[in-house]
Amino acid sequence: MLRRQVNPAGQIQQLLALTDATPYAGVADLVRRFLANATQDPQNIEFALRLLRLVPTTVDRALQFDNSLLQSLASELLGNLDTNGQKHIMPTYGQEWSHSTQYVPLTDTQGFSLTVIEIQREEGSTPHLDQYVWLVHEVVHFVFASLPQDMILGQVNEKLTEVLRELTYAAFPLRGTTSATGALSNEVRQRWTARKDQLDWSHELAVDAICLWVLGPAYVDALANAYDRKLNQEALYNIEQSHPPVELRLFALLEAAYELGWGSECADLDRIYHSFLTVTLEPALGNRYAALRRLDLIATVRAAAWRHCDRADLPRLTHDRLDVVRALMKKPEALSGITLVLAGWLKAKAAEAAHDVAGFDAWVENLLMLPEYEP
Ligand SMILES: [Zn+2]
Repeated sequence: MLRRQVNPAGQIQQLLALTDATPYAGVADLVRRFLANATQDPQNIEFALRLLRLVPTTVDRALQFDNSLLQSLASELLGNLDTNGQKHIMPTYGQEWSHSTQYVPLTDTQGFSLTVIEIQREEGSTPHLDQYVWLVHEVVHFVFASLPQDMILGQVNEKLTEVLRELTYAAFPLRGTTSATGALSNEVRQRWTARKDQLDWSHELAVDAICLWVLGPAYVDALANAYDRKLNQEALYNIEQSHPPVELRLFALLEAAYELGWGSECADLDRIYHSFLTVTLEPALGNRYAALRRLDLIATVRAAAWRHCDRADLPRLTHDRLDVVRALMKKPEALSGITLVLAGWLKAKAAEAAHDVAGFDAWVENLLMLPEYEP
């Protein structure tokens, strides 16, 4: 068979036409404006192609459902906060839950930012509503990416400056070991400094705390499910840039959950966490780990997250609110945004207890049939 070679400009035209037929026609328009203002540099063409390839083009009920949920979550989680500027959010489908934000310039001074939330499943398949707690997590990252004033950046970095100053003074008398101490305080700086791209431990812990604020026990359960079984010693204390080590993450989450009054909902997570503590680290890793596990920074991040929730006026989940969600579940058309995610969690939990997976799937299929998700 003869395969026709499509040039990049041709590919762009094809993808723009496909995008026009999706709920993201607005993104196609913006890409057109970008290309009209950009030079013919292959890099610009490549950038436009990369953006357009992310747009989901299977326009079915599942996409309408995801899109509607994503837009409501974005607006609920922004709350009262002002983003000043053009912010777009859209889903893409892939191997994991993740987020990325691209700034697309239109003129020298004007542009738009596009946050793409990767949903962990195949495009066109039925939404795993029992996993959508993670959608909330990714949308909170979108909120931080959209804010002109990110409170985590301000408050955590201020505290970090103080911590690093103390570390310097602490090292002063230890002449022989200053280089080792210096390396450790550099690493504290590197891992904890809140960055605009959010590839730091502080943002990750703040996102967890905010998810806990709005989702309570649904979020505790999500972490317990994510970390039950599959953990070994290496994974538990693994030090990397984009996420805090699992031990630290769970410790911070448990503290936050107790503070918000969800302690009695933490039995599973508590058990999982304590089962890890029998692990003994080899001394070099143990010392490095102890230096990075800053209780003062964990507390600062948590306080900053609560202030963020207050400022945005985010709805804090309580037992009473959860009862309201239970009552709403009888009227699926009344469910949207955070309430819909919580309903999905409640339904999945009930189905699991009753060994009725088919019942859960039927419930999701029914939701998808609501007129508002008509493609
Ligand atoms: Zn995250």
